[in-house]
Amino acid sequence: MVAPHSPVEIWELDDPVLEPGSVLLETVASEVCGTDVHLFHGQLSGVPYPIIPGHVSVGKILEAPGVEADALGNPLEPGDVVTFYDVHETCWSCYHCLVARQPNRCPSRKVYGITYSVEEGLLGGWAEQIYLKPGVKVFKIPKGVTADQVIGGGCGLFTGFAAVDRARPELGDTVLVQGAGPVGLSAAAFAGLGGASAVFMIGAPESRLELGRSFGVDEAFHLDETTPEERKDRILEKTGGRGVDVVIEAAGHSSAVPEGLDLMRDGGKYVIVGHYSDVGSIPVNPHLDINRKHAEVLGQWGTGFHHLTRALTLLARHSEKLPLQNIVGKKYSLDEANEALADVEHLRVTKALITP
Ligand SMILES: [Zn+2]
Ligand SMILES: [Zn+2]
Repeated sequence: MVAPHSPVEIWELDDPVLEPGSVLLETVASEVCGTDVHLFHGQLSGVPYPIIPGHVSVGKILEAPGVEADALGNPLEPGDVVTFYDVHETCWSCYHCLVARQPNRCPSRKVYGITYSVEEGLLGGWAEQIYLKPGVKVFKIPKGVTADQVIGGGCGLFTGFAAVDRARPELGDTVLVQGAGPVGLSAAAFAGLGGASAVFMIGAPESRLELGRSFGVDEAFHLDETTPEERKDRILEKTGGRGVDVVIEAAGHSSAVPEGLDLMRDGGKYVIVGHYSDVGSIPVNPHLDINRKHAEVLGQWGTGFHHLTRALTLLARHSEKLPLQNIVGKKYSLDEANEALADVEHLRVTKALITP
């Protein structure tokens, strides 16, 4: 991706020089997610174009000089299929890392496919090979989980997991997920696994809501075919007139926020995870929506390595219940990357993969 608004080009780069402790992957698949659309439109700050996009990827180990095990000690050898934590170079010595213990806000952190420039190497997934610098946290895909499931969920799998982890619903809570993209679908699935007594979803198009039902959503509302009043009436009816205990915003539209606050019960929790880029402001009523409601409103920025490993370990146990591979809409070769971006932007596919 040479620059914002400029078509993606195919460049030929030199083979990487492998440092001890590095891993060279043959890309099996890398995702095209909403973030890549934002990158294409120049909506994320601090991106050193030209970049190789593709942050969450699955690859087969080609070479791994001096690396015998993944980040959790599982033995590794060439041919193994792995994924990796796309965030690297967290410093573990700044205020955010050490004192606030919020390494996802560490100013030194870099992200594969987003904040590495192409001049720094094969550090993005839309490429035939991916170079994992020494220290990048590799995770062998657990037994019982397929590469298509991992990449079908993609970053949405880990982000959705992180949002539920942040909300910490109690057993028996009712949960509303706003948004039916990969993040919303994963959040709904994990909320169900986490013991929700009912999971509601608001989103579009119908094909995504259908996926949501297959992941355990009890009742899905089509965003354009129901009115906010109809949704509210129904949710109040299903929650004893109180509203849901937990709302997870994975819609990425600011208009979701006042509706989410309104549908949440007094003293409920609201996690905002879908606003990864700035889509504008929206008025909320601090008295009615937050203070008087005694609301807990939380943001979730990105994910930690623990989200990745916990999500995949849980997925291994519930593999059959979570057919994440069905999120994959279409696979594209490298020279179809522009088409993939356009299809994701216009919601023609839920999840597009680059399979070089
Ligand atoms: Zn730091
Ligand atoms: Zn993503």
